[in-house]
Amino acid sequence: MGVEKESPTSSLGRDSIYRASLKLLRHIKNAGVFRCPEDDRPLDYAQIYPDDELTTEVMNSLIRCRYHKEGCRWVDKLQNLQAHLDQCPYDSIQCPNSCTRMLSRLSLDDHLEFSCPRRMVVCEFCNQQFPGDLFEKQHAGNCPYEVTWCENKCGAKLERRFLANHMRNECHKRTVQCPYCNRDFVQETLQTHQYQCPRFPVACPNRCDPTKIPREEVEVHIQALCPSATVSCTFKEAGCKHKCPRFNMDKHLDNNMKGHLQLMCDLVAKQQTQITQLCNALYSITHVTDGTFVWKISNYKQKFLESVYKNAELVSEPFYTSRYGYKMAASLFLNGNGAGEGKYISVYIKILPGEYDNILEWPFALPITFSLFDQCVEFDFRANISESFVPDPTWKHFQKPRKDTDRDALGFGYPKFVSHEILKTRDYIKDDSIIIKVKVDNNKFISP
Ligand SMILES: [Zn+2]
Ligand SMILES: [Zn+2]
Ligand SMILES: [Zn+2]
Ligand SMILES: [Zn+2]
Ligand SMILES: [Zn+2]
Ligand SMILES: [Zn+2]
Ligand SMILES: [Zn+2]
Repeated sequence: MGVEKESPTSSLGRDSIYRASLKLLRHIKNAGVFRCPEDDRPLDYAQIYPDDELTTEVMNSLIRCRYHKEGCRWVDKLQNLQAHLDQCPYDSIQCPNSCTRMLSRLSLDDHLEFSCPRRMVVCEFCNQQFPGDLFEKQHAGNCPYEVTWCENKCGAKLERRFLANHMRNECHKRTVQCPYCNRDFVQETLQTHQYQCPRFPVACPNRCDPTKIPREEVEVHIQALCPSATVSCTFKEAGCKHKCPRFNMDKHLDNNMKGHLQLMCDLVAKQQTQITQLCNALYSITHVTDGTFVWKISNYKQKFLESVYKNAELVSEPFYTSRYGYKMAASLFLNGNGAGEGKYISVYIKILPGEYDNILEWPFALPITFSLFDQCVEFDFRANISESFVPDPTWKHFQKPRKDTDRDALGFGYPKFVSHEILKTRDYIKDDSIIIKVKVDNNKFISP
């Protein structure tokens, strides 16, 4: 028998030879008969012997290292293989620190120096020794002696053990509270803030008191409280021009009671005139119509009785026919007047002296309609009663009224406007009231 010689280009190692020998022995055992593994012919055991010559030849054959795929370039005789493997840099060995890792001889140095969890590491900052895994998990990045940057990015560099104190008490980028307004600020901006802080205590500009007051209260202090502030006399609106420090004002008031009282009297008189003027102005505004004046007569029953006994005339509030129009008033005799006495309501219109008479057209010529409202709820069923006339320019009632015109003089209108019988029908009287409308036809009004 023999073993095939390997060419140096195949990766046959010592293991391959063992494997071949084992295969042969198994073959022999299994068969119970010695047979040649090559051609399977029976062999004579007596003729099997070690072949030194062949062994030498095999052991001299050139082989490559089994790690040549990993990069080992070793090529040599088979007999030198074991010696090579004992130092082949690609052969796996166990970490001498017993960290359980298997590593190639090549990476052992690296492992021992940098990654073996059982290696001992000396911290470059504190010079203490740590097992590698402890160092990485706990100490690295936490060494109190390592110099680091301040986390507030203030630019300071200091050993970690001093960092907390620095950030709490020294760092100019630390957050601090303004002691006056309690808002948070970066420390280096605090001073600038306090030039504007509304709660920062400042002295009164009048130096009234050494006690300082919050900045935002100074204005109110000066206006309302500061005894040194110059104030105007309480009677300023009445005309007193006196000014003095607040603490002196009482004295001024005591000494000038008479003068102040006179000022007040003058003021009251002046205001009274103004009130009268305003009332007149207000009156002329509220009594301007668009030509339609509606007059409600409440307490009808009582007024009717008064009218029966006294033949009293009811005169309406005066009104203007337009903003710069004629001033007039309506008048009513509930128990009738003249031809209508005792049986009718009589209604008249009176032209009164007005503000704009001098610029209006005379005699008065606008058509006038009197209406009595039917106060029925249903709008469509109402039957208002109306009478209209066009003023006769020759009648004295329609001439320009003089200032001394007799207001009690009778106007122009209808003595027999509505009979008492008709008045009791429908809803002419409702809730003890009647409502009369006077409509002046402004279509023909020539605006002054
Ligand atoms: Zn090798
Ligand atoms: Zn290790
Ligand atoms: Zn350290
Ligand atoms: Zn800092
Ligand atoms: Zn503040
Ligand atoms: Zn003050
Ligand atoms: Zn005064």
